[in-house]
Amino acid sequence: MTAEIIDGRAVAARVRADVADQVAELTEQSGRAPGLATILVGDDPGSAIYVANKRKACAEVGISDHHRHLPPDTPADEVGELIEACNRDPEVSGILLQLPLPQGLDSASLTGLIAPAKDVDGLTPISAGRLSQGTPGLRPCTPLGVIELLDAYAVELDGAQAVVVGRSDLVGKPLAALLLARNATVTICHSRTRDLASICARADVLVAAVGVPGLLGAEHVKRGAAVIDVGVNRTEHGLRGDVEFEPAAARAGLIAPVPGGVGPMTIAMLLRNTVTAARLTRAA
Ligand code: NAP
Repeated sequence: MTAEIIDGRAVAARVRADVADQVAELTEQSGRAPGLATILVGDDPGSAIYVANKRKACAEVGISDHHRHLPPDTPADEVGELIEACNRDPEVSGILLQLPLPQGLDSASLTGLIAPAKDVDGLTPISAGRLSQGTPGLRPCTPLGVIELLDAYAVELDGAQAVVVGRSDLVGKPLAALLLARNATVTICHSRTRDLASICARADVLVAAVGVPGLLGAEHVKRGAAVIDVGVNRTEHGLRGDVEFEPAAARAGLIAPVPGGVGPMTIAMLLRNTVTAARLTRAA
């Protein structure tokens, strides 16, 4: 078997086009475009590129830009005051505090100041609690992007065996919760999991979110499975995922490559979350 290859760029383009339509509708209804406040503290070059890409994507769909850049030595209370000001600002629908923060700033406590209705990264304890309890709220972008890809390719989740390798707050745990909410039977694996290969080989839906290039090979893949590789690893051979693509593709039914699979979905889902946040704040 040779797997069908997921085209994440095409799915992301469809999401962006749909978001652009929704932005136009919201703007016409209220006379105000949904707005995203990206907050960048310090001069980390990687973070600056990520934020620039997010702002460009917002501009392309008509989301207004409320970017703030603070110097690396900004005290925590000043970062907190800026977040609180964005919480109160009706022009700001969503707030994104770019991580990692410079040393000395506590990401968890500062992220926790973001109003839940504006938490477009879905990373505050309230958003995580709502996801865990299955109540409405904003969900983290990369896990949402994985579900969107699975839906775009009509992968059956109800009753499916889903294995998520990785248990981070950013990807693994929220993705497991989203899969559970869709009635998959979910197993979460991590660095202490024994016999990873035999657990993965049971999966109808296998997701790797680890950060170890080529960790999962053919022996981890059930014939016909949907394999989603979230990993982004910069190696001397270029960008690699957590899955050995060729051997896994020879057994899988569907596979998301790196690059071009999950990667383009994360920003697309941030745009969608910003529109969702705008609807939430306007409804309130
Ligand atoms: P993370 O916080 O470092 O978590 C990695 C997880 O993998 C941990 O739960 C860890 O287990 C587990 N792990 C490590 N080595 C393992 C092994 N040998 N066997 C099984 N599990 C192992 O990483 P993350 O933030 O979730 O990101 C994971 C990957 O996704 C990275 O490559 C990252 O760059 C990528 N990513 C991509 C996007 C995107 O937009 N495409 C977005 C976010 C992240 P323990 O908990 O036991 O330590």
